[in-house]
Amino acid sequence: MTTANEALTPSHDGGAGHPEHHHSPDRPGDHPLAGLHLTGRIVRPSDPDWDAVRMPWNVAIDQRPVAVVLAADAEDVTQAVRHAAHHGLTVTAQPRGHGASSDLADVVLIRTTALDDIWIDAETRVARVGAGVRMGALQAALDGTGLTALSGSSGDVSVVGIALGAGLSWFSRAHGNAAQTLRAVELVDPHGRRRWVTDESDPELMWALRGGGGDFGIVTAAEIGLVPAPELHGGTIAFPIDAAPVVLRAWRDATERATRDTSLWAALLHLPDIPEIPEPMRGQSFALVQAMHLGDSAGLDALLAEVRAAGPVLRDSIHPVAIAEVGTVAEDPEDPSPSMLAATRLTGLTDEAIDALVAVAGGGSGTPILQVQLRHLGGALADPGSPAVAGPEAAPYLMSGLAMVPAPPLAPVMSAGLDAVLDAMAPWATGTAPLTFLDRADTIARSYPDDAVVRLQLLKELVDPAGVVRSNRPVLDAAIGARTPEALVSEI
Ligand SMILES: Cc1cc2nc3c(=O)[nH]c(=O)nc-3n(C[C@H](O)[C@H](O)[C@H](O)COP(=O)(O)OP(=O)(O)OC[C@H]3O[C@@H](n4cnc5c(N)ncnc54)[C@H](O)[C@@H]3O)c2cc1C
Repeated sequence: MTTANEALTPSHDGGAGHPEHHHSPDRPGDHPLAGLHLTGRIVRPSDPDWDAVRMPWNVAIDQRPVAVVLAADAEDVTQAVRHAAHHGLTVTAQPRGHGASSDLADVVLIRTTALDDIWIDAETRVARVGAGVRMGALQAALDGTGLTALSGSSGDVSVVGIALGAGLSWFSRAHGNAAQTLRAVELVDPHGRRRWVTDESDPELMWALRGGGGDFGIVTAAEIGLVPAPELHGGTIAFPIDAAPVVLRAWRDATERATRDTSLWAALLHLPDIPEIPEPMRGQSFALVQAMHLGDSAGLDALLAEVRAAGPVLRDSIHPVAIAEVGTVAEDPEDPSPSMLAATRLTGLTDEAIDALVAVAGGGSGTPILQVQLRHLGGALADPGSPAVAGPEAAPYLMSGLAMVPAPPLAPVMSAGLDAVLDAMAPWATGTAPLTFLDRADTIARSYPDDAVVRLQLLKELVDPAGVVRSNRPVLDAAIGARTPEALVSEI
């Protein structure tokens, strides 16, 4: 592992390889960012707050970049990218770090957190947000407008990060993925040029930005579409874990009746026996059904009647949800957490599939992982939308397993726990997952078909031949199938 005082030789392999590491004293004059002057700050390994600044939200990823640029504005981002391009460095954007993926050993990390401007035009249903704006902050600003952004389960992720990753929202069954709401993007391209990108100005780049991640430039702001949400109901219904087989069947049946206005998720949750978890939840396991409904309570109550009858209800928090509250309904962890994820789309959920899942992750399974979550997809997610690499979703469900890794030696145990869930569900799994649900050694090839990955790779070579910009899932890291790139290109 690289130590904090190592200055590293930049490489152009996208950070995926193992560049030679050269020890050198961390004197400002020696540092690769020497000569870069910003309104914001450059934080280096020798700075006292280095450890706090370098860490991502997912603290299981011990990332040690060359330096962290705390950009104060878009001009800082421009200067940082120009400096990187001129000196053969690689840069990556990381507003929050929920999607952190690697050690960033030869990379300059740009935090866009301070780019927090929000401008809303309720009339035209458009929001313009800086690249540091959290989804929760946008939702708070939208409170009372009757409009919502396509928020996922956490209010703490950035609006830009989730949109670039295609983003699955509570409202995706009604309105598609979050990338579909991207109207225009302000970015600094890999040559350090500031650009305003739209479908008209640059259709190929917009196609890639809608789900291809942050490999094509550092975004400084984006314009996103908003959707009407005059009334919302949602929350969690919790059952004892032993009720899981019946609860999951009732939830599955409800998803088959649900209209596009309703998203229903289910989970098997195993809370650890640690002081941070309050009694009586500590050390307990539950089967959960979670809901978000664009509309009044009557429609949702009718849909949930059989679910509520599926076992003893320990907690029922279904309630009118304010727009500002959307990012808390799923009760995701808010504080930085050491986590590991494994996900796959599912082709369906038969009774046999539910029994297989309960056997590997239900009560008495001994699974070490925190949670397995099932999300109902379909609806508008299956519709063709704006041109996007994140095309229509054919699969009806997404399964994701989440494990906490409180100490590195536990990583193999948690990884094995996640693999056991994937193995048990293999007969019903596509083996693919949305970009924002990738983890561990996953590449973007798990998210998109070969021809789409090749198209992303060709665009990457075109716009960033020197490999200046790198995302958390670099498109050039993806190995494509048996067909040659030439054959694939001829099919596009
Ligand atoms: C608790 C939790 C709940 C989640 N819920 C959902 C959910 O409901 N639906 C869903 O789809 N995903 C969900 N995610 C995943 C999350 O959406 C992704 O991790 C996403 O990357 C956004 O997180 P972030 O803002 O922290 O991005 P970061 O981790 O900071 O960045 C991730 C990547 O996004 C790109 N990026 C971000 N900003 C820029 C920029 N300004 N310019 C260029 N590239 C950029 C870069 O490639 C970067 O590597 C969840 C994650 C967690 C931890």
